[in-house]
Amino acid sequence: MKIAVLKEAAGETRCAAIPETVKKFVALGAEVAVEKGAGAGASIADADFTAAGAKVGSRKDVLKGAGIILAVDGPDPASLKDAKKGALLIGALDPVRRRNAIDGYASAGLDALAMEWMPRITRAQSMDILSSQSNLAGYKAVVEAADVYGRAFPMMMTAAGTVSPAKVFVMGVGVAGLQAIATAKRLGAQVSATDVRSATKEQIMSLGAKPIFVENVAGIEGEGSGGYATEMSREYQKAQAELVSGHIAKQDIVITTALIPGKPAPRLISDAQIATMRPGSVIVDMAADAGGNVEGTVSGKNVEKHRVTIIGAANLARSLAADSSALFSRNIYNLLAAFWDKEQAKPVLPDDDEIVKGIRLTQGGKVVNERLSAA
Ligand code: NAD
Repeated sequence: MKIAVLKEAAGETRCAAIPETVKKFVALGAEVAVEKGAGAGASIADADFTAAGAKVGSRKDVLKGAGIILAVDGPDPASLKDAKKGALLIGALDPVRRRNAIDGYASAGLDALAMEWMPRITRAQSMDILSSQSNLAGYKAVVEAADVYGRAFPMMMTAAGTVSPAKVFVMGVGVAGLQAIATAKRLGAQVSATDVRSATKEQIMSLGAKPIFVENVAGIEGEGSGGYATEMSREYQKAQAELVSGHIAKQDIVITTALIPGKPAPRLISDAQIATMRPGSVIVDMAADAGGNVEGTVSGKNVEKHRVTIIGAANLARSLAADSSALFSRNIYNLLAAFWDKEQAKPVLPDDDEIVKGIRLTQGGKVVNERLSAA
């Protein structure tokens, strides 16, 4: 079995393999071919891949005869014309927004697997790119906020007087939010956090932060279905807006991470609420790509409103390319290793497996995923 690792398009710094996963694939009996320069953005030289047992070559060379193609972002189907029919294409394929490309993979006879549609089950935790990348992004959001903020995070008692600790409020306590809380705590901030899922209250407290929750209208019980939130009732939204208005004026840094699968991100902070914040405060909107939790957010840009900086954070994991590539490529390795059949020396993906059903988009020239056929 030959595994091809593609060089990503401009703007993507990550790589779908690292020398460690190359070695592990070789140990499974596979042959690995890495496109020249694929690791550059993640500080991995071609020679590092060669030393791990891979061959390095052009896209045409690496695709030739490959049964598995690995990428971080979904490649343009036209760039895969040298791939063989029936090859597995594995990456963050962004199935809904790149529907045309998915159709392109089907017509090329590729079996595309979308890593971001990994089901949230215990068995698949080690294969979950949303968790591995969000965790790093949550950390980076706090570091970016600290960089822009014109004051310090920790309390400092100095001979020239006391520096007060920054007050950080995290809205949305999933994987990114939890890491943002932990990072802000490590930097010495006073941290509070909110979510709509009641199970997060204990998680917030276990990190030493203060939970700020809507009390008079019921939120989502426990973890929520599959760990996901749904759109909240008007009554809840109103109560949440009042709660936020009371709290936000006293905060220096706000990190928003709230997402609802298949829907635009919920609006959590209005322009009027931003106007109540102290000049110099910083908001990091990690939902910027999904429409934003904050009024006025521009994805990929910093904008200033009422002397508050709003960072429209887009794909922060890319700015930690070495770590994010390592975790991403281990997620892919864990998937392939779990289904690897030693005798056939290739992965065997049973049609009735929950993971396979979740991530398989195309097979035998057709789009086969229920979520895409329903769309
Ligand atoms: P997410 O990215 O879908 O959403 C981020 C957070 O925003 C969630 O906590 C959500 O409840 C919250 N949110 C949504 N609407 C909100 C609103 N109006 N106000 C405030 N907050 C709002 O979530 P995520 O980071 O992917 O993870 C959510 C949960 O799923 C976590 O508990 C995580 O541990 C779990 N999870 C489990 C697995 C697994 O078992 N394999 C994998 C991934 C995540």
